Amino acid sequence: MSVDLQYPDGEVVSHPVGVTGLDAARSIGPGLARAAVAVKLGDRLLDLSRPITESGEFSVVTLHSDEGLHILRHSCAHVMAQAVLDLCEGSTFAVGPAIADGFYYDFEAPAPFQPEDLRRIEARMAEIIKEDQPFERVAMSRAEALDLFSEHKFKVEIIEGAAPSEVGGDDEVTVYRNRGFVDLCRGPHVPSTGRIPAVKLLRSSGAYWRGDESREQLQRIYGTAWATKRDLEGHIRRLEEAEKRDHRRLGPELDLFSWPRELGSGLAVWHPKGGRLRKIIEDHSRAAHERFGFEPVFTPHIAKSDLWATSGHLDFFAESMYAGMRRGDDPEYRVKPMNCPFHVLIYKSRGRSYRDLPIRLSELGAVYRYEKAGVVHGLLRVRGMTQDDSHVFCTGDQVQAELTMHLDFVLSWLRDFGFTDFEADLSTRPEKSIGDPERWELTEDALATVLEASEAPYQIAEGEGAFYGPKIDVHIKDAIGRRWQMSTIQLDFNLPDRFDLEYAGAGNTAERPYMIHCAKAGTIERFVGIIVEHYAGVLPMWLAPVQASIIAVADRHNEYAEETAGRLRGGGLRVEVYKSPETVGDKIRRALTGKHPAVIVVGDEDVERSTVGLRLYGEDRERRGAPLDDVIGQLAERARPPSHE
Ligand SMILES: [Zn+2]
Ligand SMILES: [Zn+2]
Repeated sequence: MSVDLQYPDGEVVSHPVGVTGLDAARSIGPGLARAAVAVKLGDRLLDLSRPITESGEFSVVTLHSDEGLHILRHSCAHVMAQAVLDLCEGSTFAVGPAIADGFYYDFEAPAPFQPEDLRRIEARMAEIIKEDQPFERVAMSRAEALDLFSEHKFKVEIIEGAAPSEVGGDDEVTVYRNRGFVDLCRGPHVPSTGRIPAVKLLRSSGAYWRGDESREQLQRIYGTAWATKRDLEGHIRRLEEAEKRDHRRLGPELDLFSWPRELGSGLAVWHPKGGRLRKIIEDHSRAAHERFGFEPVFTPHIAKSDLWATSGHLDFFAESMYAGMRRGDDPEYRVKPMNCPFHVLIYKSRGRSYRDLPIRLSELGAVYRYEKAGVVHGLLRVRGMTQDDSHVFCTGDQVQAELTMHLDFVLSWLRDFGFTDFEADLSTRPEKSIGDPERWELTEDALATVLEASEAPYQIAEGEGAFYGPKIDVHIKDAIGRRWQMSTIQLDFNLPDRFDLEYAGAGNTAERPYMIHCAKAGTIERFVGIIVEHYAGVLPMWLAPVQASIIAVADRHNEYAEETAGRLRGGGLRVEVYKSPETVGDKIRRALTGKHPAVIVVGDEDVERSTVGLRLYGEDRERRGAPLDDVIGQLAERARPPSHE
């Protein structure tokens, strides 16, 4: 009896049944076998020591792949739990998955973990790693597993409540054991703890069992793990850089926005400076939509629940919607989570002919979505947000041109804000979908053609589309290399059907229009959060709420400072005069903290000669005695918004 393993190069090699992944890896090469942490058979990841009993596509997983890193990080979660149970009496463990760049584990502990606890846990982990304890996979019955974990209530709850696939096999439960530690787990793992090259604990925070606020309060410890010490150091540097740029800290510091507790979770208020920034972005958005042929529309924030039943949102989006509200004999209303049905009704407000198409509607539409308090995050994930939303209704013949326009629009929009490194995903028809197969084919082809012709590299996310249509997502890379999903161009075969949208075709036949949703910034909130982080708060001059601050050296220069401010304002610049009784040095420091692009200092000589001292942000030299007219011209030039004439 043998199994046939097909290697990545296409070669098929027969092995005796029960060959281990490690032996099969050795047959490819000893170096690869040494680097291996697991193997992949078909879609399944297996431990190196696991006997292989089926034929299939076979590859070796090393730490140079995402899958390998995932296995490493998951193994680190075990080691961390082992260390915590060793060191912290009275604690028990819940769940600990691998996550992007790292892992966490949730514990019920007598007291929250302090930084010195994390250091002790990390030191214990280093010992466990040094001991190179092998991970051993053990299969057992549910009854045996319940007995084994009888002291650990969360594990018992998992075993009792789990579908068979969650705990290993049919009626089988698998656990992984290393030395005295054992955890419920499907695996796979790196072969032994010694195979963990670089791990670090980062922080702890509160969490709830099962993410449910009515259940036990747990303590979560986050860690990160990498294939090399160097990768780990690079990651720590990126984290520090991200921390410096965090918009949740910079926003209040720059007096842009805040999240008053009194409002509730995920709800921001925009202060005057943030309001000005937002207005600049929104004005830019309105102008861009007009340039690309969109008509502005306005729609209310609430609508009858019936509307959301017709649109289908109550079926597939209800979890993200706020509950209905009623007054008197009125029907129930819902606050809107999306603008689409409103725009559909504008389309439907009169008969349409093919001559009217395409119809392009746009709105900066405020929507509200329920997000769990645990997942709201600054401006990146909020409960109240404004989308730069648009909907196009067109004929099949127009789809290609409309999609070309949409991608041009999206890339030009992102470029205006200084993003140049794009990547796109084309998500195609999923297994469960609705809509005419011909429409899927036509639009998927059109999306691919548009991407082919554009500068953005793209990949196809096969079957990852929404059930109602294919889409393009555009990602950008920010100043520190993080990828953010920004814009979406989404086809929709659902709403036109549900609302029975029609237009009269050339032969006066009733035809169904194509519908395209698009958000360029996504939401204004998230967009601003990302921009603030991308620029570390030092916004390009056309976006800066205060473009220049003016500082008088002494009170006797205040009048001239005001005069200078008036002249700069006349030149179209946004300026602020510092009049508080601080020293010049303090005022300059305050302007620098506010990250104003230009600081203008005026003293005796300036008053006499109509000059100013000019210091641009990021330059440590002040230009003394610069003629005011020159400075106005220079700053106005720098402050010019991206133009599209
Ligand atoms: Zn595990
Ligand atoms: Zn929409």
